[in-house]
Amino acid sequence: KSPLVEVIDLQKYFSVGDKQLKAVDHLNFEIYPGETVGLVGESGCGKSTAGRTMIRLYEATGGEVRFNGKNLFSFNQKELMKVRREIQMIFQDPYASLNPRMTVEDIIGEPLTIHGIVKGKQKHDRIVELLELVGLSPDHLNRFPHEFSGGQRQRIGIARALALNPKFIVCDEPISALDVSIQAQVVNLLKELQKKMGLTYLFIAHDLAMVKYISDRIIVMYLGNMMELTESEELYSDPLHPYTKALLSSVPIPNPSVHRERIVISGDVPSPINPPSGCVFRTRCPHAMDICAAEKPKWKEEKPGHFVACHLYI
Ligand code: SF4
Ligand code: MG
Repeated sequence: KSPLVEVIDLQKYFSVGDKQLKAVDHLNFEIYPGETVGLVGESGCGKSTAGRTMIRLYEATGGEVRFNGKNLFSFNQKELMKVRREIQMIFQDPYASLNPRMTVEDIIGEPLTIHGIVKGKQKHDRIVELLELVGLSPDHLNRFPHEFSGGQRQRIGIARALALNPKFIVCDEPISALDVSIQAQVVNLLKELQKKMGLTYLFIAHDLAMVKYISDRIIVMYLGNMMELTESEELYSDPLHPYTKALLSSVPIPNPSVHRERIVISGDVPSPINPPSGCVFRTRCPHAMDICAAEKPKWKEEKPGHFVACHLYI
């Protein structure tokens, strides 16, 4: 199978005064059709920026992203408009991403209008169909976003993202702003829709418990860099990177017979404007050695399909 999405050496730097903030630094990974790849890390690690840069909501500083084998970054406006149908985004805060003065019908219908897909009765029927698909009653068509709960609003955001029958969706912390009791419902809905519509997801999250449940593979990011990448089961059963181990140690374990040492990461995340030399995690790593300051660790396939960037693995 060939990948649907290929991220090659992706970089996104921002200028801050006369300095550069390396929000995303040389990301490399693929996402296969029907797959969910989780992208996790603490807030500010560059995961949202990575997701947005991948789909050209931000212009990349370097690298490329191929969608169905074609370099998205070489597309002109017309080609971009066309591919936008196939690539959608679901946002963290469903309230902020929905226009408060538009009805549900207008919100969900907007992409259909912009792309001139369907009109009139056909459009209305499609909107009703989309509402049902996300588990909302068509009675809601003429209501406004403020009349809904957080979970319902996220369903509206999902319906809008699905309107054009996309192939790939960047889900940017779609459940982080929701009550814990609602989170599982929305994740289950995303899983169901994936099966039904053959969707491929990049699922951005800082919560490792939920990301495990939805992801086939997971990427751990820290200060704009990839630390580890492997299948989700494997990441939880045999994490290799000291940062991943620390992140996992704060996740409650459903099975109490599994012993996991609690690791507290000391200090704050360093500024991405002035990141540590060598391994960017070294200022907080309990295993840091001399070489960690001198050399950036290489990306290494330590076990089949299990990649890590750390000098402990040579
Ligand atoms: Fe820690 Fe060194 Fe590995 Fe970085 S490379 S995670 S500092 S041991
Ligand atoms: Mg974010």
